[in-house]
Amino acid sequence: MSTVPASAFPDPEMGEPFLLTPGPLTTALSVKQAMLRDWGSWDGDFRAMTADIRGRLLALAGDDGSYTCVPMQGSGSFAVEAMLGTLVPRDGKVLVLANGAYGLRAAETCRTIGRAHVLIDKGDYLPPRGAEVTAALRADPAITHVVAIHCETSSGILNPLAEIAEAVRAEGRELLVDSMSAFGALPCEGPELGYTAMVSSANKCIEGVPGFGFVIVRKEALAAAKGNCHSLALDLEAQGRYMEATGQFRYTPPTHAVAAFQEALRLHAEEGGIAGRGARYAANRDKLVAGMRALGFESLLSDRWLSPIIVTFFCPADPRFAFQAFYDGMKSRGFIIYPGKLTVVESFRIGCIGRMDAAVMDRVTLAAAETLAEMGVTNAAPPEAAMAERARLAA
Ligand SMILES: *Cc1c(COP(=O)(O)O)cnc(C)c1O
Repeated sequence: MSTVPASAFPDPEMGEPFLLTPGPLTTALSVKQAMLRDWGSWDGDFRAMTADIRGRLLALAGDDGSYTCVPMQGSGSFAVEAMLGTLVPRDGKVLVLANGAYGLRAAETCRTIGRAHVLIDKGDYLPPRGAEVTAALRADPAITHVVAIHCETSSGILNPLAEIAEAVRAEGRELLVDSMSAFGALPCEGPELGYTAMVSSANKCIEGVPGFGFVIVRKEALAAAKGNCHSLALDLEAQGRYMEATGQFRYTPPTHAVAAFQEALRLHAEEGGIAGRGARYAANRDKLVAGMRALGFESLLSDRWLSPIIVTFFCPADPRFAFQAFYDGMKSRGFIIYPGKLTVVESFRIGCIGRMDAAVMDRVTLAAAETLAEMGVTNAAPPEAAMAERARLAA
C-alpha cells in the first residue's frame, strides 16, 4: 500500500472492495493513515484538532455567527437522539416527516425518550411536501418542532427541504434537520434554511470513518435547552458548554476518528468543498444510473427525486435472479452493494458516495453485467408490480 499516493482512489485489486454503501464508506488512504498515531484527549494538539473540525463544519453550514458545532461520540443515531432529547423540551411536541427508515427512527427516538410527537408517514419513498407541513402545523398549534430528513437514505430520495423549511418558518415553529447522508455533498445552510439544528456524522459525505456525529445548532437555542435532556451522556447542551470552556469532549473522545476526519475535511476542501464533492457524486450517480438502465434495470425514483447519494434499483423479475447470488457476484468483483428497504417490492441499493469516481462506476455496471450473465439472467427488467409502484410517485 505504501507506494500508492495519498490522494489515489483505493483499488479493489489491492484486496479492498469498494463500499457502495451509505456509510461506513470507502475512505482515502490518507484518511486511514491519519489514524496511525495516538492522541491524548487533554493535550493541546488534540484540542486544536477538535477546534479546527468544529470551525470547518460551521463554515460548511454557512454559519453567520449564530450557530455552534457540537460533536457527539457514537454513530449518527446517537447525535440525532442528543439533538432531540436536548432541544425539544419535555413538554414540547414534534412533527416527524417520514418517508423511510430514518424518519421512522426519529419518531421511535421521540417515543423512547418520552417526547410527544405526531407523524406524517409517506410510506417507502413519497416526499413530504410543504403544503402538508403547513396544514399539519395549522391544525396543531401544540407542535413546537418539525423533524425533516434531507436525503432519506432508505430509498435515496432527496426530500424537498427548502419547501419544508419555508413552511416551518412561516408557521413560526423550529426545524430540526437530519442531513446525515447529504451534508458535505449538498448545500444545507443554517441561515438560509432557518433551521434550529442540523445533524450529520463523520462517516458519510465528508468521507471520514465512523465514531461520532455532530450537531450544528443555534447558540441561543442550545443555551436555552439547559436541563432538558433525558440522558447524561447524550446531553448536547452539557457537551457544548464543556467544549466551549475546555476545548475538550466531555467524556473520552474518538481520537482516531477525529484525526481521520480532519484529514477528510482537508480532502473535501481540496476537492472544492460542497460544490466539488456534490459534483463528483452526481457524476457517479449519472454514470451508475445510465449503465444500470442500459442493462435493463429500473430505478425506484424518477430523475427528479434521485439524490446523488444512493440509488434504489428494483430486483429483476427473472426467476434466475436472487439478491444473495447477485451480492456475492458483485463482491467477488470488488464491490459491496446494499440490500433494499422497500416493503412492497424487492430492491437493492448502490451508493454513489465515498472515495470513488465515475470510472469506478463504469466498473460497477460491468461487474453487474458479468454477474447477471453468470446467473443466467438475460433481462434485468423489474416485475409489473414494481412499475405500478413507481407510477404512484408520478401521480
Ligand atoms: C446514516 C443515517 C443516520 C444514522 O445512522 P447510524 O447508523 O446511527 O449512523 C440517520 N439518518 C440518516 C438519514 C442516515 O442516512
